[in-house]
Amino acid sequence: MPTMRFFAIKETFNRVPIKITEPERRSAVFGKNVFNEAAMRQYLTKQSFTSVMDAVESGKKIERSMADHISTGMKEWAIAKGATHYTHWFQPLTGATAEKHDAFFETLENGQSIEKFGGGQLVQQEPDASSFPNGGIRNTFEARGYTAWDPTSPAFIFGTTLCIPTVFVAYTGEALDYKTPLLRALQVMDSAATDVAKYFDKNVTKVTATLGWEQEYFLVDKALAATRPDISLAGRTLLGHSSAKGQQLDDHYFGSIPERVLNYMRDLEGECMLLGIPVKTRHNEVAPNQFELAPIFEETNLAVDHNSLLMDVMDKVALRHNFKVLFHEKPFAGVNGSGKHNNWSLATNTGVNLLGPGSTPMKNLQFLTFFINTLMAVNEYEELLRASIASASNDHRLGANEAPPAIISAFIGSQLTDVLDELEKVTNGKLSPQEKTDLKLNVVGKIPEILLDNTDRNRTSPFAFTGNKFELRAVGSSANCANPMTVLNAIVAKQLIDFKKKVDSLIKDKKMKKDDAIFNVLREYIKESKRIRFEGDGYGEAWEKEAKKRGLSNHKTTPEALKAKISKKSIALFEELGIMSKVELEARHEIEVEDYSLRIQIEGRILGDIARNHVIPTAIRYQNILIKNVQGLKEIYGKDFKKHSQEQMQLIEEISAHISNINKGITDMIEERKKANKIENGEKRAFAYCNEVKPYFEIIRYHCDKLELLVDDEIWPLTKYRELLFTK
Ligand code: ADP
Ligand code: MG
Repeated sequence: MPTMRFFAIKETFNRVPIKITEPERRSAVFGKNVFNEAAMRQYLTKQSFTSVMDAVESGKKIERSMADHISTGMKEWAIAKGATHYTHWFQPLTGATAEKHDAFFETLENGQSIEKFGGGQLVQQEPDASSFPNGGIRNTFEARGYTAWDPTSPAFIFGTTLCIPTVFVAYTGEALDYKTPLLRALQVMDSAATDVAKYFDKNVTKVTATLGWEQEYFLVDKALAATRPDISLAGRTLLGHSSAKGQQLDDHYFGSIPERVLNYMRDLEGECMLLGIPVKTRHNEVAPNQFELAPIFEETNLAVDHNSLLMDVMDKVALRHNFKVLFHEKPFAGVNGSGKHNNWSLATNTGVNLLGPGSTPMKNLQFLTFFINTLMAVNEYEELLRASIASASNDHRLGANEAPPAIISAFIGSQLTDVLDELEKVTNGKLSPQEKTDLKLNVVGKIPEILLDNTDRNRTSPFAFTGNKFELRAVGSSANCANPMTVLNAIVAKQLIDFKKKVDSLIKDKKMKKDDAIFNVLREYIKESKRIRFEGDGYGEAWEKEAKKRGLSNHKTTPEALKAKISKKSIALFEELGIMSKVELEARHEIEVEDYSLRIQIEGRILGDIARNHVIPTAIRYQNILIKNVQGLKEIYGKDFKKHSQEQMQLIEEISAHISNINKGITDMIEERKKANKIENGEKRAFAYCNEVKPYFEIIRYHCDKLELLVDDEIWPLTKYRELLFTK
């Protein structure tokens, strides 16, 4: 009887690319389903329009009475676009997005009905959210959670639902989502960076952190994916022998995009245009069937929302094209995994990119100030930054040989290294006029406006300066960017606050000129932050040794890495900046270690099931065929049969050995799971799952993969790597 695998392969071969019709111009439909400025001008009264804009631009509170006007305008706009429902759209700590739809439709007492959406419904909702992770916060305080409108991210329509971006908080005020701390961090960053930017330009009144993510993903045919319980349930393969051909030839990267995939991308981009997600770049990635999509960068809160929304839309559009999207960081062993580079910078309301070198020495001193402070922040809080990208799935990628290592370091390129080396020599105290002129002309003034260190753009660095922005490359493809962005903005903000204090005190107490003070502080920072700078091969073993000498952390697993989130230092940082309280941090840590254990537990169960229900029965079937063959040979050749059946006999034995190893592996793994489950403490349980349960995955997989090579291809039930990776 043919297996599911063959039906699926046949189905895949018969696929035809879905036809896509594109608008004449994408710019004509961009943001069509977003309640953006243009829509607000049309649907809101002048007063309510102004109040929303004030909230967006300067965080001013929107009056409750105004909310009624806004909601009415929003409703009229949404209904005109075919929406029937509305939802508070939020990002709970599950990693996914959440929504509960309510109809605008309401009945009146006289049996008639209307469409209604009041200010109260816009501003606040109380989802029955008892099943979202809360790390004990809501139990402790016996409080419920509510969602509250975030006017800085515009409402949008997806399908027939008006989606209102919201934060999710407990009634006692603790954040229960990713967005709340991010918004707080961005606010702190705004004020800290504005204060420092004012040294250089008094007209700066607002600084926005910008984010441009690059989303990597794999596409697998829906039918093929359905034959694999591991892909269906865990989003990655837990076993499977590597394909004879993988990515060795580099013939996929930037190659021509297969038509079926291209049509998927075009369809997806069409949806993105309507939703105002400014997607721009698409290409094949390194591994077979791996792709990337990147937008034009935006203000960070919006960019984070857009990435979460995008992932959701990608899943939905994929179904129309009979694909399943894999966001997992390492869906296939032996080929590249997926990341989500976070390109990050700071922009002023005067239109200046603070991490972009400028055309004058003064502008470059401003650039260097923000640049060096960023290095300082990363040096000081490298462990926390590492923790912000930790997850069970990213563990497979960090430190694997094609991904950034679990060690955080910064790459800045040779030009800037030279500049910092020069600045390190600046005189202690007041600078002579000659030295200042010299610095301005020959060091600071010489930084070219366009700083593309193309020759040695180091792809192995987890945090690289790429000309006019930093690129945090260690973020996992399935992650919510809010987590690393909260940390990065918080640590740089904290650093800028400290910097300002130091410079001000030199100006006030030491009577230094502003420039002198800045040069003096920067000089010390360059020395202090040296250990975080690394220009070499981040994948090499030599770097691990060197990093250890430098005292940099190298946490290879999530439970290990997450400790930094609740260290005294992190708690002090977040509390000082008013971004998260100790309670919130501890709750998050509890949720994250629990999530880790659950994921490993689920994968362990899936692997056990596949090995026992798919692999072993298939191996036994094949073994029986061999046994029959040997029996037949014996019938024909009598006691001479051994001469003709040596290979078969050996296979029979090998199969038995693998089966017994698999069985033992599973039994032992289940024993360890049982032990782990009895551990009360969440963190200790995560460590047990990491160190005691997970190691069995490799053992079990090894023997399953060996069987895949031995057993007749025709009866093997699980779609093979070559089919998953090379079927277009
Ligand atoms: P790559 O890293 O693949 O070589 P680019 O350097 O061109 O590609 O840019 C990658 C991403 O960086 C894009 O998503 C882009 O929007 C983003 N980006 C560019 N400038 C900034 C900035 N000032 N702030 C944040 N992101 C930016
Ligand atoms: Mg990049």
